[in-house]
Order: sequence, then structure tokens, then C-alpha cells
Amino acid sequence: MFSIFLLLGGLTVVPAAQAWGCKGHYITALVAEKHINPNAWAIITQILDAGPIDPNLSRYCKETAGDPFADSSTWADDERSINPSTGRWHFMDIPRGAAPGDISQYCPQTNGCVTKAIADQLALLRDPNTPAAVRADALRYVIHFIGDLHQPLHTTSNNDRGGNCVPVEFFGKPPSETNRQSESFQPNLHAIWDTNILAQFAGDRTTQQLADELDAKFKNQIPSWQSGSLDPKAWAWEGHEVAERAVYGSLPNKVAIEPPREVSSCADDDHIAMRMLNLNETLADEYENAAAPVIQEQLTKAGIRLATILNDLWPQFSADRSARSLRKKRSAFVSRSLTPSPLPEHTATLALQMLPADCRQTVPALSLDRIAPQLRHKQISVSAASVWCCAHRWKQNAPSLA
Ligand SMILES: [Zn+2]
Repeated sequence: MFSIFLLLGGLTVVPAAQAWGCKGHYITALVAEKHINPNAWAIITQILDAGPIDPNLSRYCKETAGDPFADSSTWADDERSINPSTGRWHFMDIPRGAAPGDISQYCPQTNGCVTKAIADQLALLRDPNTPAAVRADALRYVIHFIGDLHQPLHTTSNNDRGGNCVPVEFFGKPPSETNRQSESFQPNLHAIWDTNILAQFAGDRTTQQLADELDAKFKNQIPSWQSGSLDPKAWAWEGHEVAERAVYGSLPNKVAIEPPREVSSCADDDHIAMRMLNLNETLADEYENAAAPVIQEQLTKAGIRLATILNDLWPQFSADRSARSLRKKRSAFVSRSLTPSPLPEHTATLALQMLPADCRQTVPALSLDRIAPQLRHKQISVSAASVWCCAHRWKQNAPSLA
């Protein structure tokens, strides 16, 4: 999660890609991996293999997470450095004090916001005609943005660029000015929620250990997150409320709600950073102890929701069908489709149902809607091999149904 401050250009002095940091995004991805169904995982692997990250792209996170899915989770922050127009896709400035309701008004028409970016990239993943490289990028964006959306300061602002303009002392490190012109400081509220609080509780543990611990810690809550809303706008509002309660609400010195105003640096809004500096926010154990469980929950929730969105996109093929009806359908499909006799319409329809979802990737040029009539009329000379391949693979993958 990049600090929002960095997104708006021209002012930066802070090194790139402070995010949930590398660790936070990796944890979210590693939690997700535990809950992604095998069919979705096969498709994900295929997509990332077909559109790998440009090896020439400079990566902020030098230590990899160990697999392409988790490594993908920080790619969008690196990509932004060469594609700055994607900057606004990482957050949504819902002003403190906003009334509940439609939050679309906080998503600029021109360059978007994180909820729109997630919807747009999911649409690319659903479209069978999306080229392989674009599809892989879309998946990497979804992995990253669902993480970003769960950093409460990525869905909240107080004319302070999501807390970037709130200088704080953190465990004895006083805020120092890093850019006089833009009046920016480190540490600041956004940065400690991105990285410092997490680093404090993480200690020496690896991201995999942290993911394992968090997955176990929240095991009782996970089912309700899996069955809850899959609407990123609902998640954004929830994060906004978390920010009010846990980010600003736990500060020792109260930060007043600012009347919403456009800001382009921490010098704006009557020198907001200087005014916040005068509050002398001094944060240590008490704030850490209040914030750490919130961050742990947000990271885990992001991982579970990421997995749930991907499972929704690519359901486990046999999950919602009884083994009995599958056995019947399979024998009808396999015996008829692999013989030269014409296929009746219901068998063609049946064939569609039998195709595993990842066959959409195998035959990207043909939507399943188009395969149905072709199957029926035996016009599948080009795609026949793919369809056969799918049928064969399905047969292999479902031995328990044989
Ligand atoms: Zn980001």
C-alpha cells in the first residue's frame, strides 16, 4: 500500500511503496491461498504463467514471498511508478464525518478509485476475450487492491491525504520534516498504519508464519466473512468506520473533523500538517496495542475476501453438483461427444455444463455460448481439440466420480 501522499505527484521524497508494506500484502495473499479452491488455483496459476511480471520492472519488495500469487500482491505499487495514471486506483478519499449511504460520489469520474478499479479488473477477468497479458495484470491488480482497500486510511481522509499529513511520534521516534515545500513528515499516521505497527508486532516471524497465525486466530470469524458481502463498496465503508474508530479514535489528542476540501499537499488546508504537528501525537505501547489487533483483522479479512472473490469467479467445478448427477451427465457427455454421431441440443447444453471453468482459458477465443451450437452442429473443427482436452482433463480430475 503506497502512501497516498505519493500518489499525487511531484512532491515525493519518501521512498516508494510503503504499503501494508511488502509484509502486509504478502500476508493477505498467503491467507487467501489457504482458502482458494483447487479449480480457481489452477486457473490463477495458468493466468500468471501466461502473463508473468516484466523481469525489467524494478520491484520495491526485494524479498519475494515465495510464489507468483503472493509476489503479485505488491506488483501494482511498482507498476504505478511507470504508469502514474493508475495512482488513484489504490484508495478512495471518503471524508471523515461522511454520512452513510452511496459512496460513489467519492470516486472521481476522471481517474477512478479503488472500488471502481476492483470492479473494472474483475470485469476483465470475466471476459473470455481479454488477452493473456492484460488478464494477468488484472489478476495482480485485484490481489493488490483488495489488500489496499482494507487499510482503513485508504478509504478515509481528513484533508490529510489519508493520514499522511498527520505527523506522529512513534516509539520515541519524533516526526521530522522530509519535504519543506509540501510540509510532509515521517513518521506520520498513514505510514505507521501501513508498516510500523505491523513491523512492531511481527517481530522476527516470516510472512508465512504470520499468515498461519492470523488464519488460526480468526478461524471463528472466517465463515461470516466468506458468506458476507462481496461488494467492495461495502468493504470501503466498513474500512472508513474502522478508521474513525480505531485510527483517529485511539489517538491520545483528538483530531477534529475538517470540513472537506481538495488538497494537493500537506501545506494545503491552512497548513494541515503543521496544525496536526502542534497536537504532538505521541504513540507507543497503548496505541500499538489498540491498533495491532485491528490491523491483524483487516489483513486476514482482506485475504479471506480475496479468496472468496476468486472462488466466486472460478467455482470449484463439482462443488455444487451431486456426485450422482455428475456421473450420469459425464457418461452422457463423454460417450456422445467423442463419437461422430450428431449431438442433440440437450447434450450440447449438457456439454457446456460439464466443461470445467478453466476451459474458458483453454479456449479463450471461443465463449462457451458459441461452443454450444458448434457442438450441436459438429462445427467445432478448430475448437474440437480444446473441447476434447477439457473433457479428458475433467475425466482425469474427477476420478472419484468414475
Ligand atoms: Zn497500493
